[in-house]
Amino acid sequence: MAVFALVAGVNHRVAAVGYRGGSLFERREFSMAGALVKHPKGDLLIDTGFGRHIDEQFRTLPFMVRAITFYSLWRPAADQLSDVGYDPKSLHAILLTHSHWDHVSGLPDFPGVPVWVTPQEHEFIWKSGDMDFCRLFTGIRYMEYGFEGGPYLGFPASHDVYGDGSIVVVPAFGHTPGSVIIFVTLPNGTRYAFVGDLVWQLEGITRREERPWITRRRADTDAEGTRENLLRMIAVKERLPALIIVPAHDMRAFAEMPRLPKPSSMPPSSQ
Ligand SMILES: [Zn+2]
Ligand SMILES: [Zn+2]
Repeated sequence: MAVFALVAGVNHRVAAVGYRGGSLFERREFSMAGALVKHPKGDLLIDTGFGRHIDEQFRTLPFMVRAITFYSLWRPAADQLSDVGYDPKSLHAILLTHSHWDHVSGLPDFPGVPVWVTPQEHEFIWKSGDMDFCRLFTGIRYMEYGFEGGPYLGFPASHDVYGDGSIVVVPAFGHTPGSVIIFVTLPNGTRYAFVGDLVWQLEGITRREERPWITRRRADTDAEGTRENLLRMIAVKERLPALIIVPAHDMRAFAEMPRLPKPSSMPPSSQ
């Protein structure tokens, strides 16, 4: 098993947007990213970050969002993978933390790859409005999964993807109706928590700071649910200090993750 960062681009912001008390003058590049999890039973892509068609997709967002969003596309995940000779057939599924535009932009770049979502998020995708690009896509194969497993690290239920404890998804509804957190544990003990947009920046956990009020109101479907899951996640981090928390938009978290290796040194999934 292995985990690789796939930072597809950035959103140019300031710390004040990311967490309560952040400086208005401290510039922060918010990562627009996915992560590849290589697993012997099939690789998973956690979110896509910006895809190849972000420029056209972006034009469909509401004016107010476009007016405050300044982004740069670096290289979409699909292109980064093909650059290193990754065999697309190894990709078993795309597992979304949630379905907001900046997480799903790259879905059309992976035709035929199933997209795993909770029933709640699937419903949100069908109903959702202008903050979601899924309405623009055709032919995406969404597959629903449930939380048949018991409590996990203080979360009430879980879904153990391959039944080996290496990739465990827990419900973290709040930011969207079907948001999840994905825990990945490598054989060497390195452990990641992909928290999606539970927080935008690590300070949300380390300083217990929520999003600023105005963005919390606009960005979260259920602010109470988000807060509850934030407290759970803070407790997990206290219990497991070595856990690497990966907010989808924190560049520092992705910097702690390996980049894709050169084609010749890409490990087979069976490792
Ligand atoms: Zn979001
Ligand atoms: Zn986001």
